[in-house]
Amino acid sequence: MIYHSKPFIDQEDARAVSFVVQSGRLAQGAVVKEFEDSVASYVGVKGGAAVSSGTAALHLALISLDVQAGDEVILPSYVCVAPLNAINYVGATPVVCDVDPLTGNIDPDAARSLITEKTKAIIVPHMFGHPVQMERFRDFGVPIIEDCAQAIGATINGKHVGSFGDVAICSFYATKVITTGEGGMVLSDNEAILEKIKDLRDYDEKSPYKTRYNYKMTDMQATMGLTQLRKLLKIIDTRRLIADFYDHTLAGLPVTLPPKQVGYESIYFRYVIRLESAIEEFMKEMEKREIICRHPVYKSLHQLLNLNHEGFSQTEQLCANAVSIPIYPMLSSQDREQVADVIKDILSE
Ligand SMILES: *Cc1c(COP(=O)(O)O)cnc(C)c1O
Repeated sequence: MIYHSKPFIDQEDARAVSFVVQSGRLAQGAVVKEFEDSVASYVGVKGGAAVSSGTAALHLALISLDVQAGDEVILPSYVCVAPLNAINYVGATPVVCDVDPLTGNIDPDAARSLITEKTKAIIVPHMFGHPVQMERFRDFGVPIIEDCAQAIGATINGKHVGSFGDVAICSFYATKVITTGEGGMVLSDNEAILEKIKDLRDYDEKSPYKTRYNYKMTDMQATMGLTQLRKLLKIIDTRRLIADFYDHTLAGLPVTLPPKQVGYESIYFRYVIRLESAIEEFMKEMEKREIICRHPVYKSLHQLLNLNHEGFSQTEQLCANAVSIPIYPMLSSQDREQVADVIKDILSE
């Protein structure tokens, strides 16, 4: 069976975690701090605040921007529910917007048209590892939260995603680009924001009292974050190599391959192809041949929220014809060839 995704874990990760376990100092400590500094320096921002998940990072990012009940937050329809949940946690109103048909990323023009006096933030996810054209959000006059859960390491003209918005978040969930099992981080150049988040993630022994959270990362997780980060270049290289292989072997088939935009370097967290034929049938046929494919997004947000379909034509088309095929560093050359061969076979029937 060829799985849809798999973490990239080696002996170095195992040894590092074991070392922290044996030290007896498990909770948030010096290793978390080192991991924060390392990620921030890699991305090219002043600092980071590690937390327990990407969702927690989004939640605290919204609070740090003073987003409250009655405020509006814009986000794309074609994304997982994590950003929607975070908006709901603070009681703000989600304003869902359509996406760019080429990349599946939030459409800047659609987002701009939804800005009102109540708009307090825009969540901009770099979907599937492909960078959003961040310069198109520059003059919006609304704080931008970059969601880099799928895109750490992607660049725009050499500059890392996560360094363009007012704040950025990462996720280190098991199947993300690099992992700590569960985990997340808020990145920013704004030290006041980072201090606020470091205060809010840890509830104990603080005054004056206010509602705080237990969103801390442990040193056990952070040490693996550090060993994973050391492998990130290799992970990205391998992902790009596999994408390149698919680009060449799938060319000429009746499918649309992932976009290429000069200066916008994807890390191919997902390799999403768009079919002309029915995707459910295609996915079933792939599974019969022991290859697991997935919907790139489980269900669009406008659908989940029962919004009128009007204005979401690009999201609807992606839901209807986009399929994510296996791509991860552990996918062997043999497996890649197998995936490409089976796709060719099915699509030329
Ligand atoms: C995974 C993901 C998140 C949430 O991260 P968790 O660590 O699972 O909470 C948020 N946004 C996007 C785009 C994601 O892919």
